[in-house]
Amino acid sequence: MNGIARRGLLLVLSSPSGGGKTSVGRALRETDANLHLSVSLTTRPPRPGETDGIDYHFVDEPTFLRAVAADAMVEHAQVYAHRYGTPRAPVAKALDEGRDMLFDIDWQGTRQLRAALPGDIVSIYLLPPSMEELSRRLAARAQDDAAIVARRMAQAASEIAHWDEYDYVLVNRDFDETVAAARSILAAERLRRSRGTGLAPFVSRLLGS
Ligand code: 5GP
Repeated sequence: MNGIARRGLLLVLSSPSGGGKTSVGRALRETDANLHLSVSLTTRPPRPGETDGIDYHFVDEPTFLRAVAADAMVEHAQVYAHRYGTPRAPVAKALDEGRDMLFDIDWQGTRQLRAALPGDIVSIYLLPPSMEELSRRLAARAQDDAAIVARRMAQAASEIAHWDEYDYVLVNRDFDETVAAARSILAAERLRRSRGTGLAPFVSRLLGS
């Protein structure tokens, strides 16, 4: 905030699978040194190319449930066949240190995160331009087998139904435009007065009191 200390923020990007949240999030982080990806725990097995500790912390069911019981997760949910959740400690640390975190979580997790940290969350929902385009993007990804693609298309409508729980909604028609819009949102939200922990002391000095 123009050299003034501030609290970090939690940027949530949600979309149905294939809706673009991962690529948009990656593009945001590539040009922004202060946006750190929150690494979730999941019981889902790794996909080819995914690395433990970078894409997710891949854990078994008992480990996941122990973390929940220890209140070590700020949110968690069952998504499709697996459990996903966000570790609490890195979130608290980032907020205190004025670092921003990016979350690729579903609507259930977004709700819990908002309830836990209402002043800190900034949420963006990415809508596909059409269901045909979503299906095409899912199939083109080709990481999941056809049965998973079909199931995710079936789930997409019920996920999209939560679009109105988000602060900002972008139709992801053109990738570059979507990234530019998300950057603008982030830039403005960083300047919110409520995050400016250094503002009051700055103004005191400014006015010589
Ligand atoms: P995938 O298995 O494709 O990586 O993710 C499946 C879904 O789980 C996506 O919608 C993703 O946003 C969601 N997800 C990933 N991590 C978390 C998390 O920590 N919490 C919640 N609530 N959802 C998550």
